[in-house]
Formats: sequence, C-alpha cells, structure tokens
Amino acid sequence: MTLLQLEGVSVRFGERAVASALDGVDLAVAEHEIVCVLGPSGSGKSTLLRVVAGLQPVADGRVLLGGADQAAVPVHRRGVGLMFQDHQLFPHRDVGGNVAFGLRMRGASKRSSEARVTELLELVGLPGAQGRAVASLSGGEQQRVALARALAPSPRLLMLDEPLGQLDRGLRERLVVELQGLFSRLGTTVLAVTHDQGEAFALADRVVVMRDGRIAQAGTPLEVWQRPASEFVARFLGFENVVPAELSAGVAATPWGKVPVPAGSPAGEHQVLIRPAGVVLSAVGLGCEVVSRTFRGTHVALLLRPEVGPVLEAECGLEGAPAVGDRVSVGFAPAEVVVLPGE
Ligand code: ADP
Ligand code: MG
Repeated sequence: MTLLQLEGVSVRFGERAVASALDGVDLAVAEHEIVCVLGPSGSGKSTLLRVVAGLQPVADGRVLLGGADQAAVPVHRRGVGLMFQDHQLFPHRDVGGNVAFGLRMRGASKRSSEARVTELLELVGLPGAQGRAVASLSGGEQQRVALARALAPSPRLLMLDEPLGQLDRGLRERLVVELQGLFSRLGTTVLAVTHDQGEAFALADRVVVMRDGRIAQAGTPLEVWQRPASEFVARFLGFENVVPAELSAGVAATPWGKVPVPAGSPAGEHQVLIRPAGVVLSAVGLGCEVVSRTFRGTHVALLLRPEVGPVLEAECGLEGAPAVGDRVSVGFAPAEVVVLPGE
C-alpha cells in the first residue's frame, strides 16, 4: 500500500529563478517503509519534506497521502510528524511538557496525554524523565525527547530532517541502530533526510539520491551501492576511481590501461567506476607507488600513484599491506568494475 505519493512535484523560489528547488519529482513511499533522501547541501531535500508537510506550496504537481490529494489540506490536518535538525525543544517546559505538546494541542485529556508520554519516554529509552529540565539533558537525550514529541500523536508519516546532524559520530551511529529497531517495532513509515550516506544506508529500506532538485537515483542501499546510476552518484558515495573509457569485447580502455569489465557490458564510450576492492595487488600489472595507507579495521585502504592515469584507490588485506613509498603492481577484478549508465 502506497502511503505517500509525489507526482511531478516542482518548487521554485523567486519569479525569475532559473533552477528549481524541486524539479518534477516523482516518489512513492509504501506503508511501513523507511526511505532516506540523500544529497549534497542545496539539492532540495528539506524542500521535499516541507512540501509533504504542507509548509511549502508547489508550483507544479501533486502530493497524495493515503491516495488523497493534499492541495487543500492544511499542515495540522495531514497527520505527518516532522522533526528538524535543530529539534527546538521548548526550553521553559520540562521533558513531559515537551512530549505532550502535540497531544494537548490536539485536545487530548491530561490523563490520556500523561499515559502516552510515559509510554513514549520508555520507548525512546528515557523512562521517568517527565520532570527533568530540558537544559539538564545531553545532546543525545534531547534528540530522544524530540523524537518522542514527534511520535506522540502517532503520525501516519514521520519525517526527519537531518535528525542526528548535530551529534558526534559515535552517538549518531548508536542512535541510528536504535531508531531502526524502534521504527521496525512500531511499523512507522519514515521519510528521512540526511547528507550522511552512512546514516542513510544504515537506516533505509530504500535510498533516494538527489541532485539539483531531481532524483538522481532511487533503490535499495545495496542496489545504489553496487550499481550507482551515474558518475554523480558514484562520487557522492565517495568513490574516486571514475574515468572515461572506450569499451569493446569485455575490455575497457582506460587511462590506467586495459581493464576487464563484466560480461554483457555495453560497447562504446562510457564512464567506468572501479571499486577499490577491484584494484588488486598482483605480481604483474600496472606499476604504482603507494602514496598513503589507512587502517580500516577489516582492510587497509591504499592510495596509489600509477605510472599512467590519475591516482587510484585500492584495498588490501591487513597481512602484508605495503608501506608508503613502496612500489607495487596492480590488476583489476571485473566483478568490481561498474559501467555507469551516464547522467
Ligand atoms: P537541502 O535541504 O538539500 O540542503 P533545500 O531544500 O534547503 O536543500 O534547498 C534547495 C534549494 O532551494 C537551494 O538552492 C536553496 O538555496 C533554495 N531555497 C530553499 N529555501 C528557500 C527559500 N525560502 N527562498 C529561496 N530559496 C530557497
Ligand atoms: Mg536541508
């Protein structure tokens, strides 16, 4: 069942704006699905959430929730919860008062609201915190209170805009795992925005990569990671080994020489991505100098300066990893080579 549907949604700021903040966006989110929108700053992620919430009028297109066009439905009637990056708890209210805010606004009785607050604080791991002052909470605790507040009215769609953006890395990684567990237990439908791919890939059933107000790629984390749809997506995911190549008969002629490509690859000129795991140390092959090496826990990441072509990212096992300044030679593994479909 589709809960949220965007059909050709465009948003423009200013009358003479050349570029649109959103440009013909089509997106469907199923019930219970967690979709993460990823993209660089300014690509339209927040605008997308604001459109769904009803905070931003559209120039073109339609937003449907549960099959119903939302054009005439005001913000507070859409049944969506929104949590922004700067979660803005009310400093003069205690934790309980913050979580209860939306409930009381909707006319819930004091008793039912108190019961719901108790339940939600337990859910987010802050049982009994009702009476605590907001100022006494750590960043992570404030985040949990903001989440409880957004969840309190049981929104049919929860939207999170860079929900963990302000927190340090370790805490973010822990909270992502907690959020994922929480959402799957509750069956919450979530549309979340982040510029952090690690966060998106950890949380999402499906990721949507945005570029300049358009969807550059949508798919499961695995699909997007394995098969980036364009050079833009590949580079956004942090891959550096992307070069133009001439393909024929299972081989790509690249600035690094001939590279084998997967069977069934198209012929002609294409951008080619070689994942670092596909650059393999071997007895013979392209000669390189090791520029840097970084221990990554399960492997060592290498930066290589080849005899020809741009620098290469490579990976190798912990045992026998070469040192900076060493001369090595590398071959290429076709399974880690992706012919990019183009922009
Ligand atoms: P993101 O959340 O991905 O960083 P936004 O959705 O905030 O991107 O912004 C998308 C584009 O729209 C940007 O170019 C931004 O400058 C522009 N924009 C956003 N809000 C406004 C506004 N209220 N007035 C004018 N331009 C805006
Ligand atoms: Mg934003």
